[in-house]
Formats: sequence, structure tokens, C-alpha cells
Amino acid sequence: DALSKVKDVDIKGGWKVGEPIPYAALTKTFSLIEATTKRLEKTALLTSFLLLVIQRSSKKDSLALLEVVYLCINRLCPDYVGIELGIGESLLIKAISESTGRSSATIKADLKKEGDLGLVAMNSKNSQKTLFKPKPLNVAFVFKNLRDIAQSTGHSSQAKKVSIITKLLAACQDFEAKYIVRSLEGKLRIGNAERSVLVALAHAAVLAEHEKAGKKWSTEKLATRLEEGANSMKSVYSELPSYDEVIPALLEHGIADLRDHCKLTPGVPLKPMLAKPTKAIGEVLDRFEGKRFTCEYKYDGERAQVHKLPDGSVSVFSRNSEDMSKKYPDLVEQLPKASNSTKSFVLDAEAVAFDRSTNKLMPFQELSKRKRKDVKVEDIQVRVCLFAFDLLYLNGEPLLHKTLDERRKLLREHFNPVPGEFDFAKSSDGETVDEIQAFLEESVKDGCEGLMVKMLVTDASYYEPSRRSVNWLKLKKDYLAGVGDSLDLVVVGGYYGKGKRTNVYGAFLLACYDESSEEYQTICKIGTGFSEEMLQSHYDVLKPLELGNVRGDVKVGGAKPDVWFEPQVVWEVLTADLSLSPIYTAAQGLADERGISLRFPRFIRIRDDKSADDATGPDQIAEMYERQALAAVSGKKKKGGD
Ligand code: ATP
Repeated sequence: DALSKVKDVDIKGGWKVGEPIPYAALTKTFSLIEATTKRLEKTALLTSFLLLVIQRSSKKDSLALLEVVYLCINRLCPDYVGIELGIGESLLIKAISESTGRSSATIKADLKKEGDLGLVAMNSKNSQKTLFKPKPLNVAFVFKNLRDIAQSTGHSSQAKKVSIITKLLAACQDFEAKYIVRSLEGKLRIGNAERSVLVALAHAAVLAEHEKAGKKWSTEKLATRLEEGANSMKSVYSELPSYDEVIPALLEHGIADLRDHCKLTPGVPLKPMLAKPTKAIGEVLDRFEGKRFTCEYKYDGERAQVHKLPDGSVSVFSRNSEDMSKKYPDLVEQLPKASNSTKSFVLDAEAVAFDRSTNKLMPFQELSKRKRKDVKVEDIQVRVCLFAFDLLYLNGEPLLHKTLDERRKLLREHFNPVPGEFDFAKSSDGETVDEIQAFLEESVKDGCEGLMVKMLVTDASYYEPSRRSVNWLKLKKDYLAGVGDSLDLVVVGGYYGKGKRTNVYGAFLLACYDESSEEYQTICKIGTGFSEEMLQSHYDVLKPLELGNVRGDVKVGGAKPDVWFEPQVVWEVLTADLSLSPIYTAAQGLADERGISLRFPRFIRIRDDKSADDATGPDQIAEMYERQALAAVSGKKKKGGD
């Protein structure tokens, strides 16, 4: 069914073999995907479209497929290259106005009604009378122009961007303006998460092979191949998250052999493994009972994935795959001293502010005082020491499928501590509650957040890129004090201050992010605990992000802030309690019909290592709520002597 719908796209798009892919065919597919709420159907539609692209691509020319995939996930290059879309609303309104002849005021009024600038652009275009049909857009042309827009910098860049966008919009027909504008805004809003794009790509590759083999496979064989293909694609991509590498290999070698050709490669950061929170040492033992595990200090710094390439160059990547080499030129300089005999490596580590005069760890607040860009080694005030806790690649060989015990041995064999610059994460392979308790206390005394407890042997201790895994547990001192895990939330709205605070925002509306529906769900208003100085600095950051209206992908509920922001800034927040709420929309329909809200939320810090899409998700919030409810029940039972 999906295939026939997409075939229809193909024919209407007038797309013949050997010709560039019409942008109309891609956007028609987007509109079909947007029109259904069924996840499987969304994937099937995309699969069918990608199948057509694969069938029309040659082994040697992977560009068309690459560009289509990038447009589907609304990116222009791998994460670590850092060319991003996300054009401000006012610039887009200007371009829509210039290309359609409608006034900015009318467009703004429409936006207020529709809540979606893409839709407004499409309606504005389609109601415009044109004498000549413009030359149809193709994917390669749109992609190139989006890249030019994202890359244009300098004082005349605004005008240049408006001019390119205006020209693109002038050539748009049917659905095209809607998706071009949404792409430029940075959110496609068709409900196609990156995971489903990966599955669709794998399925399309399998179906292409099936068709090539004369469709002779049995239904069972095809089903197995589809499942294997999707698993293989997900695992390959988590090791090598770069379509620039994966797609050419896919076309050249096919999906079955993809794993042999795409492996972790220094220079391409992989998504880090993450940990699950635990409330009590007893919980750790429940999980790890009878298995060998290790406890490591949980340092309070910034995650740093350090790569040494065979040419000797060193790069530092953030938790978010951002290249931080310019923030940490000192690390880039220091690292080779700790490992002069290695040709290439990938280290997983934490960069921590370090006082060299006292040899003491300093809290994250110190680290956050460092500039983020273009730091010169001679100007650095806050020194960092790197604490390595894992080795993922060494001298040409990926180590992800070795046990932590083996990886750690290699780490210790091939690296040497350099005082104040490089060390191994302090660890203790304890087994009893008392041992863990003592080590936890020691870690806190030394200025850490608590412990990370990790499976040490068996395949459960393999490195799991991009997973929040039960094989890594975090045991923070805060949890033991009865405080739950913190949440990372997006600032979507502001409330004007009162009294002395009228020139700044006095409170903020926060939201979590639902990856599957691509929407922000409101969760609480936060307004206490900010100093005057903090409020001023939040104001300076957030004021430029003010929007004329709430974005259509913010599920507002009953919240009524005075201003709306472009969802960009992420804050880490602690709460005393989670409660059901008739006002906020977070996790609606998961634990209850109502949403979940935070009671007495407290601001901890800005998480500029996380983007809005990395914010805590509704599933985690529902899980936290349910855990709290469970704890309350068992607490009551205990009190009652049950
Ligand atoms: P958090 O708010 O706890 O930092 P997070 O979502 O960034 O949350 P988590 O998986 O919850 O990540 O916690 C793991 C983080 O702790 C890692 O990302 C890393 O930056 C830091 N860390 C410090 N010491 C270690 C260690 N020994 N092993 C692994 N991670 C460590």
C-alpha cells in the first residue's frame, strides 16, 4: 500500500531514471508521512521512497541518497561538523513576505492563527497568482542552497540568507514551501524520529536486494532479512554516526556486509553510553549480585571523548558530538604526553576543573567559567585534568566488544598518569554494601557527585554507544539524601518579573521533549532561587530567542507565559516531588490521563552540552513519577509495620 502511494508520488513528480530527484516527490512523501499517526506506516512510506532512490542510484554515486536522508532528518552534515539550520522567525517572515508580496503583518497574523510558519508559507504561496510555472526544484539544488544559508556568516549574511530563501520560495509549488520553511526553522515536524529513518534506510536496502534477486525470497526469509538489516544498520550507525560514511558503503557493499566496512573510526565521535539512576546501594547489589562489577568516581565535569587520529592530531568531542577542540586546546596539547606510544585511540573521559596548587578537584561551576570557543592556552585560568574511564579504540582496532575489564587493562597499559593533567578514574572493585558505602563517601569528600557502578566482565560489560544502560548505574549523593535524579528541561516561555525585577523575566516555563512526536511538553513554572545576577544573565541569553507566538510543536496545555522562546536553552533542574497536573502536558497519557508537573523545582545549572532534543523525555518523567508513587506505598507499608 505504502509503495503504491509513493509510486504515485514518483509519477506525479515526473521523476525519471537518471534525472535529479524532484523536491516535489520528497515533499509529497513528507506530507503522506505527516498525514498518518501510525508509526509503522510512516516508516513504510519512507522505506518506499528510499527504495526508489536506491534503485536509481549507482554504486559509485551515493550523493542523491545521502542528500535525501539528510533532508529527512533535517540535517546537512554529521553532528560533529556543526553546520546547522535554525533560522530565526523574523528572517523567515521577511523572506516569505518578499517572495509572496504579502505584508509581514499579515503573515504574523496568520502565524498567530496557525502556529506553523511552514503552513503559512505554503498557503501564502498557493494563494498567489503566477503567470509562469517556475522551474521545478530538485533535491540537490535545495540541499545546496540550505547549506549555503547555514554556512553564510559575516556582516552581510542576514541579507544573503533572506535573498536565497526568497528565491527558493519563489520556485516552490504544492507542499514545497511548507517543508522548506520547516527545514529552515530546524524542525520538520512529520513525526519521523531518526531511529525510524535508520530502519527505513535498512529496509529499503533489503527490499532493493530482494527485487534485484527477482523477488524470489520466501516471506519468512524476507522478514528475517528486514529484521537483520534494521539491527545491523542501528548497530553500525551507533558506532559510526556519519551518513557520509555509512551511505556510500551501503550502496557499494550492500546491507549484509555493511558491518565489515563501517566501524568506529577516530575522528567520527560515537554517541556516548549513559547510565541509569539508582536510589540505593541495595538496588546496585540487586542488579549486580553475583557478577563482577566496579565502582568509579562520578566526576563533576564535562564528558570528553578524545580521539587521536593516525596522523597524530587530537580532537575532543562533547557528549553531544560537538567538536570541543577549540574549547580545550590544553587537553589537545596535554594528551600526547599521557600516551606517546599509541598511534590512534578513542578515550571516554571526564574533563574536570583542577586546582594544581592544592591538587584538588574543583566543581563544575569552575569549569563553566571557561570560554567555549577560541580559547588560547596562555589565557587559560581554569585548568582541567582529564579522568579517563574507558578506551574504545586502540591502534586501529575498535574495542567496543571487549569486556570493560579488558578495555580497562589496555587503558592502563597504554596510558600513563601525568600529575594534574591526566589520570584514570579512581575505581574500586568492591562487592559489599559497606565497601560501596565507604567508597561513595570518599568520592563525595574528594569533590565528586557520587559513583558510577559498572558491569566488569561478560558481554553485559561491552560498551553500548548511545544507550542509557542498566549495565552502568549512577549512584549520586543526592539520591541518597532522598532527592531524585535531576531533569534536563527546555526553557520555552518567560514571565515578566515584578517589583525590582521588571526589566528581566522573573520566572520561566519549562518543557520536556518527546522524541517520537517531536514536541515539547510543558512541565512547570520555575521562579525561585535565582539571584538578580542570574536573572539578568538568563534575560540576556533568552531575550534574542523571543518569538512572536508559540511554536506549533509546543504542547502548551493551560500554561500562560508572557513571552515564548525558541526552544533552545536547556537547564538542569531538581525537584522535591512530581505530581499530576491539569495544567501541564508532560507525559500526558503515560502514567495518567493528566500531565505530570514538578513541585518546587530548583535551577541547578545551564546544560550547554545538551541541545533541546536531548532534554529529558516523557517516558523518563513517567518512570520517575511511578517510582515515587511506589516508594510512597512501600514507605507507608514500612511505617505500618507490614
Ligand atoms: P547527569 O545529569 O548525571 O550528568 P547525563 O544525562 O549527562 O546526566 P548520565 O548517564 O546520567 O549522563 O551520567 C553519566 C555522566 O557522568 C557522563 O555523561 C559523564 O559525563 C559523567 N561521568 C563522570 N565520571 C564518570 C565515570 N567514571 N564513568 C562514566 N561517566 C562519568
